[in-house]
Amino acid sequence: MEDYIVRATAGEGTIRAIAATTTNLVKEAQKVHGLSPLATVALGRTMTAAAMMSTTLKEEKAAVTVQIKGDGPIGGIVVVVDSSANIKGYVHNPLVYLPLNSQGKYDVAGAIGNGYLNVIKDLGLKEPYVGYVDLISGEIAEDITYYYVYSEQIPTVTALGVLTNATEIVVSAGGFILQLMPGADEETISFIENKISSIPPVSELLAQGKSPEDILDMLLCEKDVKIIDKSPCRYFCNCSRERMERNIMTLGKDEIMDMIKENQGAEAQCHFCNKKYWFSEEDLLKIING
Ligand code: ZN
Repeated sequence: MEDYIVRATAGEGTIRAIAATTTNLVKEAQKVHGLSPLATVALGRTMTAAAMMSTTLKEEKAAVTVQIKGDGPIGGIVVVVDSSANIKGYVHNPLVYLPLNSQGKYDVAGAIGNGYLNVIKDLGLKEPYVGYVDLISGEIAEDITYYYVYSEQIPTVTALGVLTNATEIVVSAGGFILQLMPGADEETISFIENKISSIPPVSELLAQGKSPEDILDMLLCEKDVKIIDKSPCRYFCNCSRERMERNIMTLGKDEIMDMIKENQGAEAQCHFCNKKYWFSEEDLLKIING
């Protein structure tokens, strides 16, 4: 199944629903960064959440950045997604390893530790919108839910899953976000709570061959689901020499002069795809002198 995201409404517009299958892009991230299984699950969940968040972007050049920073051994997670659902991300420690947690699952909360979640929405305006919440669980789905409730005041349920097989290869990845719009009543809220607790984990459903549409049907069929659109998502890094030049420029003249003196140039590596760019002494002098 190709990776894609569906957006839907239900309950006569009182429920907004998004679901995604992201197996291929999580596999790609694992390959690009040589991620440990634990890092794959942590980054995969974050990328899946960001993919779904990108569906609210309307402006062509808009982007969402989701940053998780904690005191655990993974060090931090950064994911960027644009309005066409091109997703890229990395973790600070791609080889992070911890024993399984008490439920026999990858210990994502232990890898992340205590810290915060940042959501930066760059809508192409002068100032980006920045939302910031402390991590309440570190398992990521609960933290995304808390972000929506606390920072955007939208009652939300988030499910994210990355399933691996015995050889630690990604079998399936995906998730859903359900949000209550103004006008949703108590009955709708308890209906959703009951549904969520009655269905298997989302990664298991995807592994069984269920599509995002099937999952929304399982969750909301009595509420008359209407699919609004379906759009592809993928792992894609848009780095370029020009972008790297701009990054080097921000280091300032003194530091660039040091790089010339010490290394007769500089190698810049993209965090998101690991592509390397070499800047010679001549290139660096050009950067300094504009
Ligand atoms: Zn790149």
